[in-house]
Amino acid sequence: MQPTAAAADLATLGGQTMGTTWSVRLLAHARDDLHAIHAGIQAQLDRVVAQMSTWEAHSDISRYRDAAAGSWIALPPEFATVLDCALEVAAASDGAFDPTLGPLVDLWGFGSAGTPRRVPAEAGIAQARECCGWQRLQRRANGRELLQPGGLRLDLSAIAKGYGADLVAAHLRAGGIGAALVEVGGEIHAFGRKPDGTPWRVLVESAADEQADLEAMPPRVLQLEDAAVATSGDRWHRFEQDGRRYAHTIDPRTGIPVADAAVAVTVVATDAMHADAWATALTVMGAQAGLEFARNHDLAARFVIREAGRLREAMTDAFAARLVQA
Ligand code: ADP
Ligand code: MG
Repeated sequence: MQPTAAAADLATLGGQTMGTTWSVRLLAHARDDLHAIHAGIQAQLDRVVAQMSTWEAHSDISRYRDAAAGSWIALPPEFATVLDCALEVAAASDGAFDPTLGPLVDLWGFGSAGTPRRVPAEAGIAQARECCGWQRLQRRANGRELLQPGGLRLDLSAIAKGYGADLVAAHLRAGGIGAALVEVGGEIHAFGRKPDGTPWRVLVESAADEQADLEAMPPRVLQLEDAAVATSGDRWHRFEQDGRRYAHTIDPRTGIPVADAAVAVTVVATDAMHADAWATALTVMGAQAGLEFARNHDLAARFVIREAGRLREAMTDAFAARLVQA
């Protein structure tokens, strides 16, 4: 054991970002200035927002949306990293994950445009779909410049929270923090070990609004050793119309929110950016195809689905292997 370990204690910090909250538990020493650490964390997350939030009029992503057709937009390194991952997952998932769905996200009322949340006219869906498609993104300068061909709108909401958790974790590591559990809007990146030498443990998210069913679901606890976990779910961002539930994950193949979307899809990966993107991609694929895909691609994934009015869980072996046995 390192000589300083005994003097370390767990500190908890928290704040707000990306329309949600963040929290960090970290191994701190008496000499650590927690106010400075807090400010440092917030600065990392503010950087993600300043670049990738469609809610900020002057963010880089908004600048890209507003750019004239034919112009090349310079991307800051963090933005380029996230877009790299987004395109990697888009290609690997055969477009289930698509960072260009901005027009559809807005049309269905889940974006920053302020459109009401209701089922749009079919012509509107067809029109918005014309303005989408990850294969239309053209980059140059090693991915640091992006062409606006006209009408393209990026949406990185399905990946930015995970990236934020990674960025904060890297920042803390670089600042000499030996261990931390970083959470941004439910997406988590953990490194190091707790003061007692044991790995971080987190409860896997299920469905907060289905309490009755929840009791029948066993609580699942993940052990995280330099690993990340992200969950996509329909808990908050959804609406109902004519007896159908429309959640905020859109199927790029139809332009319509995923039908019978899983209640929760959780992915464990080495970084939260990939975990976050894959959780969304698997949500689009659905439980059956998604689990098969995860098994074939060595993804650690768990689905919670509604079946005959009850909740049921299904997971890959890689996911089960990371659970703390009850
Ligand atoms: P959460 O973790 O809050 O459940 P997700 O990570 O699944 O959210 O991201 C959902 C958001 O991603 C949507 O609100 C929308 O902005 C965007 N989005 C929706 N469908 C897709 C898709 N197929 N690919 C990429 N991004 C999407
Ligand atoms: Mg996601």
